[in-house]
Amino acid sequence: MSSYPRLMPAEPRMFTAQVVRTERISPSFQRVTIASAELAEFDWRGLDHWFRLFFPLAPDAGFRLPAVEGRLWWKSYLAIPDEQRPHCSNYTVAGYRRLGDHAELDIDVVLHWHDDRLTGVAAWSVAARPGGPVAILDQGVLFDPPRDTTGYLLVADESGLPAIRGILRDLPPDAVGTAIIEVPASGDVTGVQAPDGVTVHWVPRDETGELVGARALRALEEVATPAASSYAFVVGESSLATQGRRTLHQAGLPKERITFSGFWKA
Ligand SMILES: Cc1cc2nc3c(=O)[nH]c(=O)nc-3n(C[C@H](O)[C@H](O)[C@H](O)COP(=O)(O)OP(=O)(O)OC[C@H]3O[C@@H](n4cnc5c(N)ncnc54)[C@H](O)[C@@H]3O)c2cc1C
Repeated sequence: MSSYPRLMPAEPRMFTAQVVRTERISPSFQRVTIASAELAEFDWRGLDHWFRLFFPLAPDAGFRLPAVEGRLWWKSYLAIPDEQRPHCSNYTVAGYRRLGDHAELDIDVVLHWHDDRLTGVAAWSVAARPGGPVAILDQGVLFDPPRDTTGYLLVADESGLPAIRGILRDLPPDAVGTAIIEVPASGDVTGVQAPDGVTVHWVPRDETGELVGARALRALEEVATPAASSYAFVVGESSLATQGRRTLHQAGLPKERITFSGFWKA
């Protein structure tokens, strides 16, 4: 992730907001919508625009945010006492709407259960109530195709679905390529807005017990060898990102034409 700082804002801005609503949009996704007047100034760039999400871990913990100086904020975050330090993890803008003097932003959170329990952001997303405080730190986009790109190859598991959906929506109408999207269940397959020339392959795991990313990698091996002038974007579980990159590089795609990022680690 940090190896692609080019499109990251030099002075990332922190925006505070409140939860407006939360709803289950498919078996494995909870959509949390947040809003505020400050968010109307968010410079949404579409594509896979992502941010650091902060929220208080307990209702009585208060909401202390790190100071942000240029791109530096982590030290200040760690300096917040444990019991007051907000949760922080990375999410993608799933939707953004300016509505007069305020704006709404959607966050599509993967629900992953461990020992039948939701933890972390997944637990927060389901329990969130209107008025709950949140903040987001703008991080810009990762998607960075070279100007001479002739075709696109997009690969992700469910954690990268919001990113791939945004990229497909914002690609030029004459773009050509392939998108491979692995999701936990067939019920997570939804319509996506994409250029006519981009084929979208959904690969649901559907309780096959396969490791996350295995199906997406198989689908990637089956697609035609990418032209050397293609650009690939491979994100999701860390092995999917690294093995996907290796597969593409062995198939002849130069490393500098592949953006890959481990979004989480199994
Ligand atoms: C640029 C970027 C954009 C991202 N956008 C999104 C997004 O829009 N929506 C989204 O849901 N995620 C997204 N992610 C992934 C998200 O940041 C991670 O899943 C993160 O670990 C969730 O934080 P957590 O605190 O809930 O879990 P953690 O505390 O990090 O992990 C707790 C446990 O959950 C497991 N875990 C974490 N994520 C998953 C998962 N997806 N599936 C199964 N097990 C998991 C971990 O292995 C660990 O065992 C993005 C990541 C990056 C880097």
